Amino acid sequence: MSALFPNYARWEIKAQQGNGSTLVDENGKEYLDFIAGIAVCNLGHCHPKVQAAVEKQLGTLWHASNLFQFEGQEKVAEILASHSVGDYVFFCNSGAEANEAAIKLARKATGKHHIVSLKNSFHGRTLGSMAATGQEKIHAGFGPLLSEFTYVELNDIDALEQVVTDQTAAIMVEVIQGEGGIRLMSKEYAKQLAHICKKFNCLLIIDEVQTGIGRTGTAFAYEHLSLSPDIITLAKGLGNGFPVGAMIGKEALKEAFSAGSHGSTFGGNPLAMAAAEAVLTEILNPTFLESVQKKGDWFKNQLEENLKSLAIVDEIRGKGLMLGIACQIEVAPIITACREKGLLVLPAGPNVLRILPPLIVTQQELEKAVSILTEVVTNLSEKQATHI
Ligand SMILES: *Cc1c(COP(=O)(O)O)cnc(C)c1O
Repeated sequence: MSALFPNYARWEIKAQQGNGSTLVDENGKEYLDFIAGIAVCNLGHCHPKVQAAVEKQLGTLWHASNLFQFEGQEKVAEILASHSVGDYVFFCNSGAEANEAAIKLARKATGKHHIVSLKNSFHGRTLGSMAATGQEKIHAGFGPLLSEFTYVELNDIDALEQVVTDQTAAIMVEVIQGEGGIRLMSKEYAKQLAHICKKFNCLLIIDEVQTGIGRTGTAFAYEHLSLSPDIITLAKGLGNGFPVGAMIGKEALKEAFSAGSHGSTFGGNPLAMAAAEAVLTEILNPTFLESVQKKGDWFKNQLEENLKSLAIVDEIRGKGLMLGIACQIEVAPIITACREKGLLVLPAGPNVLRILPPLIVTQQELEKAVSILTEVVTNLSEKQATHI
């Protein structure tokens, strides 16, 4: 019996301890954790520098409220602003809250209400971020939705042109759809998207909650497409497991978030800022980001070499260490078989296997994952063949 709401389909594993890329269950069984808390523990579990920074802050000050000024907030905001195309930062505690802030800021700054987002997107579970999420299964039972949201297919410029008007406040996108199946925005679409935003004077919001903080081998994924978002939202990897979210906005939006316009009691709390500063110091190092790209390229190549020719595999896609294996079959049995062999991976929709190793993953750990994935997917492919 559990006193918890059953809103998560949980696995039969009690997570007990974590260290680097390894997660340990209550029986001492070790797993190679290529979920990393769903792109949260980018520096691995219990990273010593993040741990030391939070421990130090624990003995100094936990919380005082945003009535006060905090050096930690100023520092992290300065780091985020100087490494992005944005200028000002608002801190909150989660991805959904960062997207709520983005939607509110876009509406207030433009005086318009209509927001266009993409089908198969995921922006969170609060009423605003859920309305921005273009997936019916996430809306089901929670209507009526916040009004004036329209959804269009990713990489379909005609569809976007048909719905954006002078009354559109913002277009909200992920550069790589995470929950939606590791779907990549094309270069051409990105170019046209920027053009449409300019033409209709609407803001570009990029949700980097999953793709940001080094996940794709750059600080933010929009860099791959040379986009210049007006608003960027962050959470997941920013605190390496300490809850923290952020919204970065451009200079022109400053006045819309004047004193009293928006807020969060816990947002920018000193403990969260200690974690975020330690995380950013590690991840924004160019050598570190280069290593993520190199590891990601090697990993993706290996998966392509070993799996691409298999009947059940459609495509290996992704960037950096955010990879997907799109399959002809449902991936649930692949995930179970990998787990039994000690490798944790997750789905992104029914047919896509999503792989999110910690960015500190070693070559040896990548090799082990390649070997398990190859064995499992090959076995299932052969089994599938004998069924036909
Ligand atoms: C996880 C996620 C969110 C929601 O973040 P929460 O912290 O769970 O509210 C929003 N957008 C994207 C792209 C995500 O992957």
